[in-house]
Amino acid sequence: MTEIVASGAPLMLFDSLTRATRPFEPIDPAMVRLYSCGPTVYNFAHLGNLRAYVFTDTLRRTLNWKGYPVNHVINITDVGHLTSDADEGDDKMEAAAKKAATTIWEIAAFYTRAFKTDLEALNIVSPTIWSVATDHIQDMIAFARAIEQAGASYELDSGLYFDTSKVPDYGLLAGMRADETVGRIAEVEGKRNPADFALWRRSADGELRQMEWLSPWGPGAPGWHLECSVMSMKYLGTQFDIHTGGIDHREIHHCNEIAQNQAFTGSPQSGANFWMHNNFLVDRGGKMSKSKGGFATLASVIDKGVHPLAYRLLCLSAHYRSELEFSPEGLAAALTRLQRLVIGVEQLRDTVGKPDWMRVVVESSASKGASFAYQRAVIEAGLDARARELLNQFDTALSSDLMVPQALPLLEQALADKSLAGDQKLRLVTSMDMALGLQLLGLSRIDLRVRPSDARIDESEVEARLDARQQARAAKDYSASDRIRDELSECGVAVMDGAGPMRWDWILDI
Ligand code: AMP
Ligand code: ZN
Repeated sequence: MTEIVASGAPLMLFDSLTRATRPFEPIDPAMVRLYSCGPTVYNFAHLGNLRAYVFTDTLRRTLNWKGYPVNHVINITDVGHLTSDADEGDDKMEAAAKKAATTIWEIAAFYTRAFKTDLEALNIVSPTIWSVATDHIQDMIAFARAIEQAGASYELDSGLYFDTSKVPDYGLLAGMRADETVGRIAEVEGKRNPADFALWRRSADGELRQMEWLSPWGPGAPGWHLECSVMSMKYLGTQFDIHTGGIDHREIHHCNEIAQNQAFTGSPQSGANFWMHNNFLVDRGGKMSKSKGGFATLASVIDKGVHPLAYRLLCLSAHYRSELEFSPEGLAAALTRLQRLVIGVEQLRDTVGKPDWMRVVVESSASKGASFAYQRAVIEAGLDARARELLNQFDTALSSDLMVPQALPLLEQALADKSLAGDQKLRLVTSMDMALGLQLLGLSRIDLRVRPSDARIDESEVEARLDARQQARAAKDYSASDRIRDELSECGVAVMDGAGPMRWDWILDI
């Protein structure tokens, strides 16, 4: 068995339940167990949703960087999430399928693929387990049955309901007393307490639903909150380390998960030890949401000619518990910052080459099982005192509840530091980027040149025009050379006459 030695500064994390930052102690140091609420796959993820997964990825990378292996589960919600987080409205999946005149299964498969493509573009590490809600219906029925047998539910015509008065401190996570929950959950005829929620939604007589299953409470579908209790406990045990989600889930979804877990296990110490919530990405009109319609997707960022990792960098520039305002200017600034970083690292690689330690790191990441801890040991073995000092500061920032906005400038500082030798800088960048996930070692400046979808010229044509320009310049025909440059500029292409392999770039309209 591998001995796990967490390294560096003690990791402090903010727990939404106690509203306090405290040291993170894993239940089993050999494997941190992490669960993240996944997407409801009825539409493309919007940039706000993706902020939630950049946050989760930063958490996971930080845990790995600090020496902990992580068993990470993300669920895919393909049933049960209504158009409101409470028991109100239509099932989002049913509604989307009706609108697109196709099956829910096709809708779910399409948007699950799109979601995974987005995560890949953002260099987000795949979870250990993707768990799909509809693969766990029998588990959910068994879980609801256990809650029923524990006496924490009751049946109405519309289904089986959780009785929130049967668990202590319902709503603690949302920071409210039970009597304050009045009015935040839709009224259902016969409900005992306003906050009670559906465990099983029985299909109405004569209602034709695409997704329904037989259950002890009649044909129907599980309530949305059930899936995360069931799948987290199935894969991570009745007590696990960390549960993540967006801050909207703190109010209802996660309160209900806690209540279900307590009723199921009979213990208040069940489920996650730490609840962690990312704040919203907002735009000038307020919180970004899929339901609003005109949302911005990652594809829309790429369509504008912006590399997706610029969006990752934008997310990393704010602390996960702060709101982040999305604006085209902010995105453009993040792209410029990423370009500078990539140019800096490219120059460094040109001067340092590929040292032996780098070869070991690359080979060990290609062979499965090499941990961040091993790779860090190889990278950092040769650090001098100044480099080590910067790395310690980086560790302290990350370990302070993932203070990435303070950690990131340390990487920039390392690149600019004249007292550091090139090899030292390269070691620092390699180690730091394992936690930041900006792919700084794999990207070149040319990779960041993304063709805007409305570009009127393609890359090979641009190259051909530039070759012609070069010939004109060689023949000292400067008016021809200027004309070509102006024509390219009219096509949205900036000619770059400086040194380096970048001869041109797109002029972005963002
Ligand atoms: P959903 O697909 O609606 O279930 O949401 C997926 C994840 O995105 C959840 O963790 C939500 O809490 C989170 N989320 C939704 N809207 C935003 C937003 N505007 N900013 C940040 N996270 C969000
Ligand atoms: Zn969930």
